[in-house]
Parts: sequence; C-alpha cells; structure tokens
Amino acid sequence: MQISVILQKGVELCPFLKWPLKKGAKSVSVAFFIQKYGGTSVGSTERIKNVARRVARFHAQGHQIVVVVSAMSGETNRLIALAHEVQDTPDPRELDVMISTGEQVSIALLCMALKELNVQAKSYTGSQVRILTDNSHTKARILSIDEDNIRADLDAGSVVVVAGFQGVGGDGSITTLGRGGSDTTGVALAAALNADECQIYTDVDGIYTTDPRVVPEARRLNTITFEEMLEMASLGSKVLQLRSVEFAGKYKVKLRVLSSFKDEGQGTLITFEEDGNMEQAVISGIAFNRDEAKITIIGVPDRPGIAYQILGPVADSNIDVDMIIQNVGHDGLTDFSFTVHRNDFNTTLNILKDKIQPHVDARDVVGGDRIAKVSVVGVGMRSHAGIASKMFRVLAEEGINIQMIATSEIKVSVVVDEKYMELAVRVLHKAFDLEQAR
Ligand code: ADP
Ligand code: ASP
Ligand code: MG
Repeated sequence: MQISVILQKGVELCPFLKWPLKKGAKSVSVAFFIQKYGGTSVGSTERIKNVARRVARFHAQGHQIVVVVSAMSGETNRLIALAHEVQDTPDPRELDVMISTGEQVSIALLCMALKELNVQAKSYTGSQVRILTDNSHTKARILSIDEDNIRADLDAGSVVVVAGFQGVGGDGSITTLGRGGSDTTGVALAAALNADECQIYTDVDGIYTTDPRVVPEARRLNTITFEEMLEMASLGSKVLQLRSVEFAGKYKVKLRVLSSFKDEGQGTLITFEEDGNMEQAVISGIAFNRDEAKITIIGVPDRPGIAYQILGPVADSNIDVDMIIQNVGHDGLTDFSFTVHRNDFNTTLNILKDKIQPHVDARDVVGGDRIAKVSVVGVGMRSHAGIASKMFRVLAEEGINIQMIATSEIKVSVVVDEKYMELAVRVLHKAFDLEQAR
C-alpha cells in the first residue's frame, strides 16, 4: 500500500528508505511500515522512551506505522521460571495465559511513551486484534488476522501498537507462538496488512556472517537471500524466528533487520533474488544451535519399517526430529541415531525406553544433550564442490570429532561436542574467509 500526502519541506527520510524526498519537493510518497522491537530494545523504560522517539519521528514524516513489541528482556524467562516453581510441566494453556502478559506490559508502556510525545497511539493484545491461531499452546500457528480495527486506527492517524508473540485460539484461549515469536507477529501483520516493509529492530545492526557475540570479526551483510536466511534460522540463528522467515517467503514480505540503538545504517535486507552484480560468496554464514540432543537406539533389527517403528511414536507425541542416521547393519542388527530439541530430550528418551526398546527388542537406548550443531550456509555452494570436505578438514585440524553430518544443496551441518562449538564456528569463519568483504 502506498499513500501520497503533502509533507512539509525539509523533512528527511531515513537513508535506506526507497521513498526519498527530493530537495524542494512538496509531495512525497510515504510508506506503511511494521516495526518490531525486541526484548533488549524495550528492556527498560528509558529504552521504551527511545523506541517511542524513533516511532514518533517516522510518524512525523507521514508514514503509517504498526509497532510490534516483545516483552522487556528477561521477562518471558522470569515468567516461565515462575510457572516451573509451581508445576514441573506447566499446564500449556495456563502457561500461555501467563507468558503472554510480558508483551501486554510493553504495549501499554510504549503507548504511554508515545502519548507523552503527543503522538496518538493505541495498544492491542493479540486477541484484541484477533490474531487467530490454532490451539497448539506455546507453539501456535497464525491462521488469520482481522485488519479492521488496525486499519481504522491508522486511518484516524494513530500509531497502532500490537503485542508480539500471541494470538487467540478458536476456543477463545490465549495462545503463544513459540520463543522469539514476536518476529512472526511482525511479519504476519506485514503480510496481512500489505505493508511496504517489515522492519525488525534489534540489538545488532543487521544479519552477520555469524553471531557477532561469538565471532567478533563477523561481518554485517547488506543483503542475504531468503533461502539463506531460511536455512540460517532453521539451523539455529535466533536473530529471526524461523516462522517469520517462512511467512516472509510465502507472502513476499520485504523484511529488513536493523539496530534499535543506532539511527544510521541500512541494516540487512532479505532479498528474494540473488544479486547478479555481487560477486557471490560460496558461504554466506555460519549458524549454530546448542538446543539439540542426540539419542541412539543400539542393536535394533535391520529390517524394513524399523525407522517408522522408532520415529512414529516420537512424531505422535508432537516431537520434531532433526538429523537422522541409520548405520550399516551387522549380523542383522543396526544402530539408529537422531536429534531432537533439548527440551524434548527426556520425553523422547522415555518414549524410546518404555515403548520402543521392548517392542523392537533393541539392546540399549543412550543419549546425550551436550551436543551442538554447526552449519555452513550459502547459495554459492550449488556451483562449488568441496565445501563439505574443506569443513571436515578444518575441524579435523582442530581435533574436533564430528558425530553426525547432514547436507542439502546450500548447507552442510555437523554435530559436535558442545564444548567445541564456539571453536568450530571461529575456525570455520576464518577458513571460509567470511571476515573479508565480498
Ligand atoms: P530480539 O530480542 O530483538 O528479538 P534476539 O536476541 O532474538 O533479539 O536476536 C538478536 C541476537 O541474535 C543478536 O544479539 C545476536 O547475538 C544473535 N544472532 C545470532 N546469529 C546472528 C547473526 N547471524 N547475525 C546477527 N545476530 C545474530
Ligand atoms: N517474549 C517472547 C520471548 O522471549 C517473544 C519474543 O521476544 O519474540 O521468546
Ligand atoms: Mg528475537
């Protein structure tokens, strides 16, 4: 959506915007933005006031803005810990009732801060907007979004502030979208409302070649392809929640990650086409994930259907399985290993020990949750051989043992002992020359 309004002379737009004000021009196209601010960016009342000042500036330039905010940093963790003090496995419905409150505090505080700046603003919880989700508490999926209230407020000149991370199920109960879910609220709103751009404001100034907190030499990328971002997010780069990237791909939302602490800079734009002018790096980034656990079922009969017999009951318990390895059989027996989210480790181990081991007559079930997955990602891999072998050589030179391997067209992932994860990321970052500008 693009609206044309008359602005005062001299109002300057941010440098990265594609809606520049020509010197002396009287009229300018203004834009409709979704701006999402994460937990650190709203981590104190001072920071909320900063966000309000930034939003007010955009508003004064004539843009229409819907702001999505996360809970203040640490708040969601605090609420989850409270629940665990009362119930070992908190009731999912009630957990959602509680953890959604963090975002509710943020929307109210931000609206107050905006009003202090004389900006008209109105807050909405997810259920007030009516962000309709399925009923999978703590990992709900958005089904639809009602736009009427938001549109009416925008048309009346308000900034609309929506609580991230939450929605409402068909039965009226509050749902949440999984950790980091405010990103998905932002992108889903951008898709539903047909915004010009969804801007994810966070505590780093864009997407880097890897987490700059682990590798200080990591380099900010001006652009990253949607496919690469999807891989990075699915392989553990928590800078964007995976579902938000999936939404952006499905609805072709223009998505940009940028700093809430710096005024200048264009951040990183997620592009849908590879930039033909740019010399394509073979590897764009390195992702890592500490959240996995590995389970091995030893000495299972090597016969058709065994994978289904093992993984069927795991899937029935709504547990996602990531990497899978079945070894070559010996004497009619084989070993079968797979990884799951660390939170699902104990449940999966119990399913295997109680339901599967006796059933398939396996020798043993063993597992460990001190593993990590390290992945190199890049669309350039399609046209370059030898990336996997280079990765294995670099790790071998550091004496890092590889426990599992998975590859796709644009990524190579390995599972290593958690204590070598950061070392692995650093040496790979160097070996693939990611510090050098493209
Ligand atoms: P927010 O609270 O704003 O949602 P997150 O903590 O979810 O912020 O995401 C931002 C963090 O993501 C950064 O502080 C950084 O440590 C981490 N991160 C991981 N991988 C990357 C990457 N490739 N580029 C930038 N940041 C990354
Ligand atoms: N507050 C939620 C979390 O900590 C959602 C988010 O920040 O995106 O996971
Ligand atoms: Mg986040």
